[in-house]
Amino acid sequence: MTSAASSVAAACAGATPRRYPHFIAGRFVPEGRTEFENINPATGAVVGLVPEADSALVDAAVRAARAALDGPWGRSSEQERAAILRKVADGILARFDAFLEAEILDTGKPRSLASHIDIPRGAANFNVFADQVLTLSTEAFRTATPDGAGALNYAIRVPRGVIAVVCPWNLPLLLMTWKVAPALACGNTVVVKPSEETPATATLLGEVMNAAGVPPGVYNVVHGRGEDSAGEYLTRHPLVNGITFTGETRTGEAIMRAAATGVRPVSLELGGKNAAIVFADCDLDKALEGVTRAVFANCGQVCLGTERVYVERPIFAAFTERLRLAAQALRPGNPFDAATTLGPLISHAHRGKVLRYYAQARAEGAEVVAGGGIPDLPAPYDGGAFIQPTIWAGLSEHSPVMREEIFGPCCTLVPFDDEDAVLAAANDNPYGLAATIWTRDLARAHRVASRIEVGLCWVNSWFLRDLRTPFGGSKQSGIGREGGVHSMEFYTDLRNVCIKL
Ligand code: NAD
Repeated sequence: MTSAASSVAAACAGATPRRYPHFIAGRFVPEGRTEFENINPATGAVVGLVPEADSALVDAAVRAARAALDGPWGRSSEQERAAILRKVADGILARFDAFLEAEILDTGKPRSLASHIDIPRGAANFNVFADQVLTLSTEAFRTATPDGAGALNYAIRVPRGVIAVVCPWNLPLLLMTWKVAPALACGNTVVVKPSEETPATATLLGEVMNAAGVPPGVYNVVHGRGEDSAGEYLTRHPLVNGITFTGETRTGEAIMRAAATGVRPVSLELGGKNAAIVFADCDLDKALEGVTRAVFANCGQVCLGTERVYVERPIFAAFTERLRLAAQALRPGNPFDAATTLGPLISHAHRGKVLRYYAQARAEGAEVVAGGGIPDLPAPYDGGAFIQPTIWAGLSEHSPVMREEIFGPCCTLVPFDDEDAVLAAANDNPYGLAATIWTRDLARAHRVASRIEVGLCWVNSWFLRDLRTPFGGSKQSGIGREGGVHSMEFYTDLRNVCIKL
């Protein structure tokens, strides 16, 4: 068994914590200025030790990525890169169990979720962008000239160069490959900085890259934290040609400041405070199923998840009661157990933050419809960062609980009487990532979708994703769109060639 895979297996068996090294120029590099602990949030146990890259190591990774652009990768055709990306997808699927265990140990998310979403999507991202790069076209124009011979203009796409990929912890493999796959498809090289909470799958992917024939230096991983650590060293590095980031809006602001030096392009996928609007004419069963997932999936740690639920008054009481039952039916516990439907939060620190919102809601006189505290679990899960799924009603629109992203398994229910009023309430927020609308009236769905200020709007569904479609947020939820051709736009530079005929 390879080193990273064996470390995952050992960690699963509760053996000595293993190390997740950096991956630079095709080699695993264990050095670092310090080591930090990788905690399993379901138990609180240390499952790994991770070296923190200093600026010299980050520099080595960026230079390896730069050098790889001058090697065979820089001369590769789209067809060759697409074939390699498909091998990477196959490689992830061939090591499905190792990736699954690594992701579950890092995040505590239930096996049912990680095996259906995180790992298959991690592989699918490589296939989708292999397809995309092969079907990409560019524009051409004939231009009249006084001599009558004319000129031909055509655009070519060239890779931007070295892309810094800075990732969050909530969907580690899925969100990282969502950026790495199109960046590589377009011929760039990457240096990935995974979240300090979830170092495992980015490291494992290094082995898959080597086995798939990705040349050394094309895919690099440096571990560490953000400020004054690997994240900041990477995004400030002058040889980085573009930065793609998913994470909190505040971090996005810091990264934009770093990108300003050298005028580097950024793609920012940031936070949200997403609304669901449930009209009385909806299919109630489907709306409940969808809203339950949107609020509680991944313990509420999905950027697209719902934290504000507006319900038309005639069905408010019935909806509230049924959502309460759905929340109380969720089963926390061992994430490897098939019966578990609710994992922990990512860390005790994050649980502390979410619990402060729980306390604030109570202090503001919210009606606690469900939850509000910490569940009673047997050892070793009593050492985990579990929290009760929680529903409030009766909160003011001005409450921080209604305005700020909590990123936990919780939502506030608000009754409404009128379409204009609910739209005004839903839009009255600095974020603009996603929304869901539940109604049988398609004209109304279209009307509301066109007026709600978000980048992604679902009607009678949630998290239904076609990877060719534009993905990203409005307002403080981000800059730019990724997905399909939009990723290709970000990961390439368009060069016009004008030939005088
Ligand atoms: P975060 O912003 O705290 O960290 C994300 C990454 O940025 C980590 O790797 C971190 O080490 C790094 N980082 C932190 N400070 C940095 C700095 N100054 N310079 C460079 N790098 C730095 O986010 P998180 O807590 O890991 O993730 C949760 C957040 O991500 C939520 O706000 C959520 O909404 C958002 N998110 C958004 C999307 C989307 O597509 N819009 C998807 C998933 C998560």
